[in-house]
Amino acid sequence: MSRLSYKIFGALLLTVLLSVGLTSFAANQLTASQFRQYIIRGNNEFITSVESTLGTYYAQYQSWNNVDKILVQLLGSNGGRLVLSNAGGLILADTENKWVGHLTDEYNLSDGNTVSVSGTAAGYFYWLGSDISASGSGYGKGMHNGQNSTGNSDVTIITEPQQQLLDEMNRSIWISGALAGLAALGLGLLLANQIIRPINILNRSARQIASGKLSQRVKVNSRDELGELAESFNHMAKNLENNEQSRQRLLADIAHELRTPLTVIEGTVDGMLDGVFAADTHHLTTIKEESATLTRLIKDLRDISLAESGKLKLEMAQVDIADIVQRQARQASILAKDKSISLITDISSGSSAITGDAIRLNQITSNLLSNALRHTPTGGQITLSLKNMLYQGKPGVMVSVADTGEGIPPADLPHIFDRFYRVTTSRARSEGGSGLGLAIVKEMTEAHGGYVWAESTLGKGSTFNYWLPVSRG
Ligand code: ADP
Repeated sequence: MSRLSYKIFGALLLTVLLSVGLTSFAANQLTASQFRQYIIRGNNEFITSVESTLGTYYAQYQSWNNVDKILVQLLGSNGGRLVLSNAGGLILADTENKWVGHLTDEYNLSDGNTVSVSGTAAGYFYWLGSDISASGSGYGKGMHNGQNSTGNSDVTIITEPQQQLLDEMNRSIWISGALAGLAALGLGLLLANQIIRPINILNRSARQIASGKLSQRVKVNSRDELGELAESFNHMAKNLENNEQSRQRLLADIAHELRTPLTVIEGTVDGMLDGVFAADTHHLTTIKEESATLTRLIKDLRDISLAESGKLKLEMAQVDIADIVQRQARQASILAKDKSISLITDISSGSSAITGDAIRLNQITSNLLSNALRHTPTGGQITLSLKNMLYQGKPGVMVSVADTGEGIPPADLPHIFDRFYRVTTSRARSEGGSGLGLAIVKEMTEAHGGYVWAESTLGKGSTFNYWLPVSRG
């Protein structure tokens, strides 16, 4: 048994013992007191009826002759012993026939029940326990076995069968209390096991995850807090597994991306060393271009890893996105002219002041524009537009870069913002694309609280839009 089981079992045992003990004790006390009340009522009724019968008897015969038979009849099954004296204290009748002819003082009988006839005391009677000896002291009305109660207080003579009944009842209460306690303990252990079992399973699974078995999952059987914990555990395990898979994929992708330019550089340098290639401008330019590709790849990787880990530091300031778009359009227009592409800018008037990092916003726009320039054929058209737009009820600006390029196949469209994803038919690789440009655009836009999405028709062109919230006030 684990330590938690001990604790739960201990707490349960303590609770059961306390509650069962206290309940049984209270029930015992209550039963005894109720039973006593019941006896007192019965005894009082008995004394009253003896009083009235003896009074009637004396009134009828004006003497106590032959009263002993009546006394025996009166006692009946009430238990104890009835003793009757005349007004002078001389004992006239005794259901045990021992004290007749003696004085009540001899037996310390005091304060008897008065039998009054027409306002005067015709005698006294005493109700005593049956085993009272002559030497007993202080016996009187309503006394039982040494219990001294004189005067008019309540009479609590408890006969042996009554005492047995009371004991029996008390025993039953303790036994049922103990049985209820055992049942509660058994049920409690069953419930405790239901709590501990899933915790143990979770514990085992957590150890498996820690040892690297990331495919480990636990079964979710309940909808309570433990069920929620199991679900969170599975969610965590799935994330860990996904992260590990994407880490491995990323490493493989990086290795792949580095290999091509390095192979070209190595091959060219080897060729020059072996005298196959001349160390001329052409070959040196090849080496320089491939080095530039490597530098760009490393810069892009750094950006994306910072953005994905949430460590990308944005120099936030008030910027006018319209200025940024115009500046990027001016820079792109030189390249567009070279390729005989017409670049149209359409900036609608409206609020374009946003809070953002100017360098990153330039990077977003420049990435989209250079993609458009790369994918638009000679004589094509690129439209760069900016307008105000509500996105999910929030005011913002939408920048769109629309081209008349080859378009993106529908199957590739949902993946183009993934790291290293390239459309297979694309000429991008040959033109130096790292496959990270759009992933960086997505991370940067989201870091600004914005969104990016693409629309495309194969053979007709693509439109890339990004939306950013405008500054309030
Ligand atoms: P790269 O740096 O290789 O261009 P990106 O992340 O920028 O990588 O783009 C991902 C993929 O989306 C590339 O394979 C590219 O072919 C495709 N793509 C990006 N922009 C366009 C566009 N304007 N028209 C057609 N395809 C595009």
